[in-house]
Amino acid sequence: IIDKARSQGRTVLTEIESKELIREAGISVVETRLAISREEAISISKELGLPVVLKIASPDVVHKSDAGGVKIGLRTATQVGKAYGEILKAIKQKYPQAVVDGVSVQKMARPGVEVIIGMSKDAQFGPVLMFGLGGILVEVLKDVSFRIVPLARRDAAEMIREIKGYPLLEGYRGQEPVDVANLEELLLKVSDFVERNPGIKELDLNPVFAYSDGAVAVDARVVLEELS
Ligand code: ADP
Ligand code: MG
Repeated sequence: IIDKARSQGRTVLTEIESKELIREAGISVVETRLAISREEAISISKELGLPVVLKIASPDVVHKSDAGGVKIGLRTATQVGKAYGEILKAIKQKYPQAVVDGVSVQKMARPGVEVIIGMSKDAQFGPVLMFGLGGILVEVLKDVSFRIVPLARRDAAEMIREIKGYPLLEGYRGQEPVDVANLEELLLKVSDFVERNPGIKELDLNPVFAYSDGAVAVDARVVLEELS
């Protein structure tokens, strides 16, 4: 996957490529396939099982939902077909120059607590992992924690517990508590993966849905180092 992107002169992997890469590292991701026509989107959605989510697949569209490029909770073939057309139309309006690979079709994951895991490289410390709660908590409140790669199990345990939103993971208003041991494991896997792949410059799993029995990444983005 990495070699293929490099041979095409790209450093930004698509969502589909990013998910494939991290799945190979043993990280659980929502099954995602590329459709290049409305009919194909419908047939893939039937193979995966409805409901599904459709998203724009383009290396030029980073914030897919901001651009009208994400449609969730599609329950029928008709809805899938309609969403396919709407996504392409919205992207054409907002990014007329974008290269569009097609539309990704993925299973609609059951609701969970949205968390994010990221990796970026610090000039002094090298790869650093970030953990936070997804959505508004990260964007507005910057409620995140950081540790330097490689993580020890203790680092993983601490970085989850030190965010202010931690009580949300322990079960909030009747919600089931999240499997925190599984999240620790996930952070360790990401740390391992990053360590083994120094050619990766940035990684974002945003969001990961965390459950009482595991977790699954529904969006992924990998950026490669520029080769000099
Ligand atoms: P963006 O490029 O805007 O970050 P995402 O792929 O993260 O696009 O999708 C936006 C939101 O849609 C996510 O934060 C999540 O809440 C929801 N979502 C995305 N994919 C799925 C999925 N497979 N199942 C359920 N919800 C999803
Ligand atoms: Mg996202």
